[in-house]
Amino acid sequence: MSITLDQVVKVFGTQRVLDDVSLTIAEGEFFVVLGPSGCGKSTLLRLISGLEPLDGGRILINGREVAASGLHLAPEQRGVGVVFQSYALWPHMTVAGNVAFPLETAGRSRSEVARRTEECLATVELTRFADRKPADLSGGQRQRVALARCLAQGASTILMDEPLANLDPHLRGAMEEELSAFHKASGATTLFITHDQREAMALADRIAILWDGRLLQADAPELIYRRPRNRHVAGFIGQGS
Ligand code: ADP
Ligand code: MG
Repeated sequence: MSITLDQVVKVFGTQRVLDDVSLTIAEGEFFVVLGPSGCGKSTLLRLISGLEPLDGGRILINGREVAASGLHLAPEQRGVGVVFQSYALWPHMTVAGNVAFPLETAGRSRSEVARRTEECLATVELTRFADRKPADLSGGQRQRVALARCLAQGASTILMDEPLANLDPHLRGAMEEELSAFHKASGATTLFITHDQREAMALADRIAILWDGRLLQADAPELIYRRPRNRHVAGFIGQGS
């Protein structure tokens, strides 16, 4: 699925947290939004997923308007899966239970729930952890449970808000590779948010630089690096992290 933002505005109080943001994420693209803390990244993701209403402009998913003046489709009507930094797993349920629960509440048959849960846990290589609780898993494994839960619901578009930020450095590298491999295998349109330029460079088909609520540049990683459009982009990309 493609995602289009057309002159999107979000205001909190007197602060324009997103100021006239326009971008299109192509079907199957791994699109990274990169910017410093507080620049509006999470707000952008929450507007797309439907957790937050917008104050101007419009958002289209696969060409269908999901948010605009007087229009706000609920998150479950948008067909996108979300993976948050904190994973948001249910602590009292097993790994398999976490993956199965949204399918059960969506009214899928018992056999289908079992089959999809098994398939998706296999995809993220967690089959042997199916009966554990989230507290018994590592950060990387929990992240994979959250990913499996997205997959099980058939999300062909996945939004990820700093999903690796809580992981140990050595796990991050491994998870980056897994995410890349998973992206290639699934072809899911992916919006990945981070403040880490190295991570952005490693993962992105395209990177969009967000700065104080404005989208400064959206380009392939090499172009962002070699031809930054202004000094904010140059400064942020050049500073290391
Ligand atoms: P990022 O994810 O890039 O760190 P956020 O999107 O979380 O940035 O926040 C952008 C700005 O909007 C920040 O100044 C933050 O304080 C403000 N903000 C975010 N959510 C709210 C809210 N619910 N109410 C008021 N201000 C908010
Ligand atoms: Mg954030």
